[in-house]
Amino acid sequence: MFRFALFFFLIASPIFSSAQNLIISKLNDSSFVYTTFNTYQGDRIPANGLLKITQNSVVMIDTPWDTTQFQPLLDSIENRFHKPVRLVIATHSHEDRTAGLAYYNKKNIPTYTSKATYQLCEENHAPLASGTFLHDTTFTVGGTLVSTFFPGAGHTPDNIMIWFPNDKVLFGGCFVKSTDATDLGNLNDANLGMWPFAVNLSRKTFKKAKYIIPGHGSWKSKKSLKHTRKLLVQKLKGNYKKAQKNRDK
Ligand SMILES: [Zn+2]
Repeated sequence: MFRFALFFFLIASPIFSSAQNLIISKLNDSSFVYTTFNTYQGDRIPANGLLKITQNSVVMIDTPWDTTQFQPLLDSIENRFHKPVRLVIATHSHEDRTAGLAYYNKKNIPTYTSKATYQLCEENHAPLASGTFLHDTTFTVGGTLVSTFFPGAGHTPDNIMIWFPNDKVLFGGCFVKSTDATDLGNLNDANLGMWPFAVNLSRKTFKKAKYIIPGHGSWKSKKSLKHTRKLLVQKLKGNYKKAQKNRDK
């Protein structure tokens, strides 16, 4: 009995740990969120990307944050969907979006970012996409429309969102905070002044969204843009009070 238990442990544990490092969650028949994990300020943090299944291929939005998962993600896509990845788009220059670009370039998968993201990656010596677009662009891949949308500076000056008009799925990336988030996260490159206006514009533009996927955390609520705005207002009020205190000293 003991031997059996040990054997089971030995075979079961690698399967268990790989399931923990890469999670693929279904939204609808053609849309899947994939999640990998990395450490930020001592905490294990999940990062979301999206897989869009077209008639003959797969579109990957953002590359895994966990650099050990570039190939496991390709393998999972092959095993589950039996279709090749024909397009990768990264939604801003940070590593939780772009870490895998060089890897997928080597695999001859077309990778794209905006020109602004490309320039920031170049400055930061980060992996670069093989292609760029200057303005909002719609790709047609295997009969599926994939639209890029720049709402304005927010989490970063180059953050874009991806809209799938066929089934009204919006991938918000790190521009959108999950309703689980209690703060705005990494603000190193954020534009706090512009972000609320950019949120307003995207709320108007994507009123019909059925799903809004944030860069990190749960996507179960459709109120994530509203929540992002609330967190921004709190932050700006806090900054204003601090500035007032300093002035009155
Ligand atoms: Zn992020």
